[in-house]
Amino acid sequence: MENSQTNVFLTPIEYLKGIGPRRAMTLKNELGIYNAGDLLTFYPFRYVDKSRFYTVSQLRQVQDVDVQVVGRLGRVEEVKQGLKVVRMTATLSDGTGVMQLVWFKGFSWIKRNLKEGENYVVYGRVSIFAGRVSMAHPEMETQLQYEASPMGTLVPVYSSTEKTQKAGITQRLISTAIHSFLEQWDSHIHETLSRDVLKENNLMGRREAIRNIHFPVDNESLSRARYRMKFEELFYMQMAMVRKKIARANRFTGYKFAVVGRLFNEFYAHHLSFELTGAQKRVIKEIRRDVNTGAQMNRLVQGDVGSGKTVVALMAMLMALDNGYQACMMAPTEILATQHYNSISRMVEGMGVRVELLTGSTRTAHRREILEGLQNGDIHIVVGTHALIEDTVIFKNLALAVIDEQHRFGVEQRSRLWGKSAFPPHVLVMTATPIPRTLAMTVYGDLDVSVIDELPAGRRPVQTLHRYEQSRLGVLGFMKGQIDKGRQVYVVYPLIEESEGMDYKNLIDGYTDLDEYFERPAYNVEVVHGRMKAEEKDAIIERFSSGVANILVSTTVIEVGVDIPNATVMVIESAERFGLAQLHQLRGRVGRGREQSYCILMTGDKLSDDARRRMEAMVSTTDGFKIAELDMKLRGWGDMMGVRQSGMADLKIADLTRDADIMAASREAAQKILFNDPDLREPHHEILRRSYDVVMKGKALWGYIS
Ligand code: ADP
Ligand code: MG
Repeated sequence: MENSQTNVFLTPIEYLKGIGPRRAMTLKNELGIYNAGDLLTFYPFRYVDKSRFYTVSQLRQVQDVDVQVVGRLGRVEEVKQGLKVVRMTATLSDGTGVMQLVWFKGFSWIKRNLKEGENYVVYGRVSIFAGRVSMAHPEMETQLQYEASPMGTLVPVYSSTEKTQKAGITQRLISTAIHSFLEQWDSHIHETLSRDVLKENNLMGRREAIRNIHFPVDNESLSRARYRMKFEELFYMQMAMVRKKIARANRFTGYKFAVVGRLFNEFYAHHLSFELTGAQKRVIKEIRRDVNTGAQMNRLVQGDVGSGKTVVALMAMLMALDNGYQACMMAPTEILATQHYNSISRMVEGMGVRVELLTGSTRTAHRREILEGLQNGDIHIVVGTHALIEDTVIFKNLALAVIDEQHRFGVEQRSRLWGKSAFPPHVLVMTATPIPRTLAMTVYGDLDVSVIDELPAGRRPVQTLHRYEQSRLGVLGFMKGQIDKGRQVYVVYPLIEESEGMDYKNLIDGYTDLDEYFERPAYNVEVVHGRMKAEEKDAIIERFSSGVANILVSTTVIEVGVDIPNATVMVIESAERFGLAQLHQLRGRVGRGREQSYCILMTGDKLSDDARRRMEAMVSTTDGFKIAELDMKLRGWGDMMGVRQSGMADLKIADLTRDADIMAASREAAQKILFNDPDLREPHHEILRRSYDVVMKGKALWGYIS
């Protein structure tokens, strides 16, 4: 039983109707189709609606769309230049008029196959050529064939390559092979989802879905069929994610923050100089709920630049302190760590909270003091860089670790924090690299995701302009105007290691030019880059942040986190060399205060299509999530971080950029099932368990085998 049921889908492709060994070879090499199962999951990438016929007399009005016409084929003629046939033509008439069919290749096939005088259904795009209605390279079949075909009016279009076309692997051939296979074997397609899942999600049965994907009865059945197959695909992916998450929650007991205490309330009531946004409040609630469960929290907080993640992190840290624990905050660079340290110290001033900063450049004596304070519990909050995860750092009771700008920290570094206390601390990861929620749910399947999707009130969106080199003087004038109003300007240069020498020179040249244009002492231009010592960098950033410097020329060291509300202009040099996500990050350095801010993208004249689209995207929106989605479309989501490892590159029908809703529904379904029955032991979950095992083994899922 078992064998006969699995085997039909493994039938080598050459044995399917109309294929044979030669075409099979092409299908394998070109499309990776080896067996019947592969062919069934070779889903059409679009469908054409053939429900409507046109008469020839109607065609002058419908150029540029694909139309279908039925008529009688007239004489097929060769048009020659010298001895060479350059095209073939034929007429098709239907009583309302005559149209011309034209071919520029495939002549011998045409001669052999087309029958003059026969009725044909032709399908293709109409154009008016020398005053005549004509159609080049129409798809065509005789009316008899058409009527005998198993197709409905929605006809699938499968992807093809030049080689498959040459090998005679037509759309029709693929359809026929699938059709005859299904006629014989479709009873072997078994359900892979339980009755409950099908019912609760209103899903079409598997057999019906596969049939409808290849031979849709109508639009509605087609969309239900596609929904079902996408759901299945995402569902098993989510099952794996949710199981991981449950396993972790069970394994790691976390610190329980039972009380909401003095510090949290005092801060909220007296130290907050602004009203929290609704999104900030919601995320704080989500965190509060997490830390009260007794299980370890692993939460990712996504929020666009400037959305106010720091204060959310601080309030979470205060929850830890209120329960007698310590908290730490880790940032990817010294500059950032220092900024966080400064702003956190400022915010908790007078509350009796001891905050310290620990980085690679903390002096030995001071470091010793800090290490001692962390060990005996005198220090409540420590902010720092990677220095925090060194072995010498021992906490009395670290219960919460906040990690800012997660993409710079690997999983391994995250886990090193865990060794630092009795239980693994709660982990709060803050990222300003918004990725679409669907993707986040999957890439970070083991993390819960919170989103701060609202900017503080009163922020004005940054105005973004794209300028070429010839507008340089105008841009300089604009900078001057802003500086004369008391504002400050960032100028950022790309620096990519391979071409570092050149890039470095550009940066220094750019700085020198600006320094000459903006004469001292009225103006003060500073430059900061990676070749400087940490103290030197800090001193320069400090001069900029205190307003002594008007312009800061830099590489992307200021990419993340730096918070200087008085800076209103961000000039990005050679902007075409930055990725969309990075451009957005850089832009986020301005627009932090009450004044209107500007981002100026300077590029060369010659832009690739891709670069042009990036510039257009930046000019057209300031919404980080939209940018992320566009970025994903431009780069393809396969290139996004984490995607490869998550196995999502293998999706056959679901599309992460489009199927957010299905993803969410499938995740919910997976959660509901696994929270009650994590190992799928209940009898009515057997079908899910078996299917899941098949998927986990990386095998094609053709149903669970009884
Ligand atoms: P990011 O999310 O980019 O880390 P920050 O936490 O640095 O953003 O916050 C950016 C600025 O906005 C800071 O100056 C901060 O004090 C301020 N801010 C944060 N939340 C609010 C709010 N609800 N209302 C007004 N300003 C806020
Ligand atoms: Mg920040």
